[in-house]
Amino acid sequence: MTNSEARKLWRRAIKEHFNCTCVYCGNNYEITELTLDHVKPKTNGGESLTSNLVPACRACNQGKGSSHWLRWMRQTFGRNYSREQLILNHIS
Ligand SMILES: [Zn+2]
Repeated sequence: MTNSEARKLWRRAIKEHFNCTCVYCGNNYEITELTLDHVKPKTNGGESLTSNLVPACRACNQGKGSSHWLRWMRQTFGRNYSREQLILNHIS
């Protein structure tokens, strides 16, 4: 397996782990429509590790930008404990 194939499988596995759902808005998407979002933004030192990557739709990925994920999520969608917990479990 080449590195790029391995990378593709890895990215796919993260999306499948979350059932192809955007972790922020909770909507389901085709796997190809989902992006991977750095929970802790790259610009803030966030690394490209499984524990820092979650599937997000394009709108959420762009909307969140370099904001703190939880602050942005609550401002945008209000409190949602189960989705917040899902992300917390993944990143901790
Ligand atoms: Zn979304």
